[in-house]
Amino acid sequence: MRRIATVTFIVIGIAFHSAANVQAVEGSLSGKTIVIDPGHQLGNGAPEFADEINATKFNGAIVKSCNTTGTATNAGFPEATLNWKIAQQLRHMLEAQGATVVLTRDSNSRSKWGPCVWDRAGIANAAKADAMVSIHADGGPSSGRGFFVIEPVKIKGWTDDVIAADQKLAGGMIAGMRAAGAPPSTYIAGQRMVSREQSTLNFSDIPTVIVEVGNMRNAQDAVLMTTTAGQRDYANWLLTGLKRFFK
Ligand SMILES: [Zn+2]
Repeated sequence: MRRIATVTFIVIGIAFHSAANVQAVEGSLSGKTIVIDPGHQLGNGAPEFADEINATKFNGAIVKSCNTTGTATNAGFPEATLNWKIAQQLRHMLEAQGATVVLTRDSNSRSKWGPCVWDRAGIANAAKADAMVSIHADGGPSSGRGFFVIEPVKIKGWTDDVIAADQKLAGGMIAGMRAAGAPPSTYIAGQRMVSREQSTLNFSDIPTVIVEVGNMRNAQDAVLMTTTAGQRDYANWLLTGLKRFFK
């Protein structure tokens, strides 16, 4: 379920810098632990896992299920696979910046389910991570495209201890992703959605946001989502958002 990868800080262009100076380079993520949560799992819709996926927990606001199948492009490319592919690219980029990366699932398989959203938050809590980004994609009206970020509300005993950092992470992701050229949502004002009902956010005790990287039902977004180059773009945009948060 859990993968912890640590790499040595990789220094590029060291010729004119001392090691100490390189550590201070803008955007360095050395010493940061970042959890990447690739939303869903390919097997979540399999009938044999229905009991596990339909298990419920109260999340501070409402009772929600363990997980869902996620959406897909009109041609049937699944959200679980998109989230997984972006997560792999982002992991390599973050590690190259010196970060320690933890993934919330270690496979993308039709013979696997979950983990449950509350367990994904639990992985981030156990890792005492500096941030968690939950990667998702929307299944909105086909006329709209672009990314938006979901942040929690303050709920006593749930998010009140971390809400300020959640909001800061949301702001960093939006500003960084926009600056890097990510197509902004055309249907969510300010690329910012506030939700009481997200279990991943409410169960987390460390700074966490959900990023809906785009709209899988939109033809332009679908082209990006189904190519390796486009998936790398999404990863790069998420990296820029995280670097903005830690700046
Ligand atoms: Zn999703």
